[in-house]
Amino acid sequence: MAENRDPYEVLGVSRDASAAEIKKAYRRLSKKYHPDLNKAPGAEEKFKEINEAYEILSDPQKKAQFDQYGSTGGGPQGFGGFQNADFGDFGGGFEDIFSSFFGGGSSSRSRNQPRQGHDLQYNMTLTFEEAVFGKKTSIQYTREALCKTCSGSGAKPGTTPDTCQNCHGSGVVRQAQNTPLGRIVHETECSVCGGTGKIIKEKCPDCHGSGKIQEKHEVEVSIPAGVEDGNQMRLQGQGEAGLNGGPYGDLYIVFRVKPSKLFRRDGAQIYFTQPISFVQAALGDEVAVKTVHGDVKLKIPAGTQSGTVFRLRGKGAPHLRSKTMGDEEVTVEVVTPKSLNSRQRAALKEFAAAGGENVSGEGSIFERFKKHGKR
Ligand SMILES: [Zn+2]
Ligand SMILES: [Zn+2]
Repeated sequence: MAENRDPYEVLGVSRDASAAEIKKAYRRLSKKYHPDLNKAPGAEEKFKEINEAYEILSDPQKKAQFDQYGSTGGGPQGFGGFQNADFGDFGGGFEDIFSSFFGGGSSSRSRNQPRQGHDLQYNMTLTFEEAVFGKKTSIQYTREALCKTCSGSGAKPGTTPDTCQNCHGSGVVRQAQNTPLGRIVHETECSVCGGTGKIIKEKCPDCHGSGKIQEKHEVEVSIPAGVEDGNQMRLQGQGEAGLNGGPYGDLYIVFRVKPSKLFRRDGAQIYFTQPISFVQAALGDEVAVKTVHGDVKLKIPAGTQSGTVFRLRGKGAPHLRSKTMGDEEVTVEVVTPKSLNSRQRAALKEFAAAGGENVSGEGSIFERFKKHGKR
């Protein structure tokens, strides 16, 4: 087929011919070999060839591709975006582009080097008070740990693992493949040693060569005073065993704090609502207010309005970092009695009269509703 012929040769132009020169050559040759004008054997084949050559050389992209790779078929189209990349020679540089492109990062340098173990998460539910005051506790969980019998080597005590002959200890095997783009080198995990670079002939009886065991692990935890819902605490080295002698991962304790029936909390500030009677509000009184630190006496001045806020200094939660105490904000809520006995009603009418107030006093809100219903 014609497609393998050099289009410059077909059109009879030099490699540095301009677009105008190429067009001129094409016009001249296509007229010469046009099947309507030229009935000589092979003319039609030649005409096709000329058209194919012009198709390549008149298209800047196809022309550039031909100039670079000597072909427009196959080649790098499949790797979109790579056409214009500079690969240099197809040796060293190319390989690096490839491994970074495929997200490997898995070169022999990092395969069997020490890596930290996985982090673990432990969810801990605390009562409102435990979060405020902190507590000491111990937690148990199962984790992957280094086998104590072989210290994680996987080899029977007294024996040492051999270097893997298949990968020479690197843990990876390189395979070269020839492609239209050049030589591509794949790195895969060594299947003989599983990427460790070592062969264990006599396996440790406790971990069967893995170097790891599942262990029930117990850690003492000292929860600081003042933690809040969603806070987390990192315990270094309490996660899972590392790879190739790497350090243990960490344990993250995530706190969930149960809400309180009495208090609301925002950081070091605690909020509490104190109900008082309207008599206490009007005459003033001293009431015992609940705080997380126990009851505290609060003076209610005469004439206190519902919704008034009092601050009890140092009766809140500790600041997590400074350990100084926040405050408790007490909102006073004046409670209107829902029912009155006859003496109370008479006293209140007298109270109103003494203030020159004319109250119709139709009874309770429920009685009034009934009356409205009858109308
Ligand atoms: Zn190997
Ligand atoms: Zn072992």
